[in-house]
Amino acid sequence: MSKVLFPGSFNPFTKGHADIVKRALEIFDKVVIAVGINEQKSDTLAAVKPIADLYRNDDRVTVISYSCLTADLCAQLQIRTIVRGVRDVKDYEYERQMADVNHQLVGVETILLFASPQLSSLSSSVLRELSHFGKDITPFLP
Ligand code: ADP
Repeated sequence: MSKVLFPGSFNPFTKGHADIVKRALEIFDKVVIAVGINEQKSDTLAAVKPIADLYRNDDRVTVISYSCLTADLCAQLQIRTIVRGVRDVKDYEYERQMADVNHQLVGVETILLFASPQLSSLSSSVLRELSHFGKDITPFLP
């Protein structure tokens, strides 16, 4: 059975992230969403729960949290492929570098999916800013 890791901060998990999960499921049998947690300041349950709720009826999707290197997590879980999304050139350069490092560390391959055009301007950081200034961000959440 083919399995892919989708790691990220997902703070918050947006329609853009959900789109990557949906499309990854057309290529892989299972997707493991791995929420990167900063143990010092983050409430793990608060980060994982809404995403887990979203996929509670889909046994092809698992949601976990982690606080180690993504490469080490792949080795631990014996997952050989990572999926990430690319919105623009800035994402591309970052993803290229991470993919290279992760491959060198544990031999894991990274598959990049181009963001769907209608979602390519959506970012968690912009949503955090909108939310901070009192705007309703629910239209951007799955
Ligand atoms: P990180 O902090 O690890 O970059 P994010 O939660 O910001 O985590 O993003 C996780 C992954 O999802 C990244 O590969 C990012 O490029 C991708 N992504 C974020 N927003 C979108 C979007 N709107 N469409 C497609 N991919 C996206």
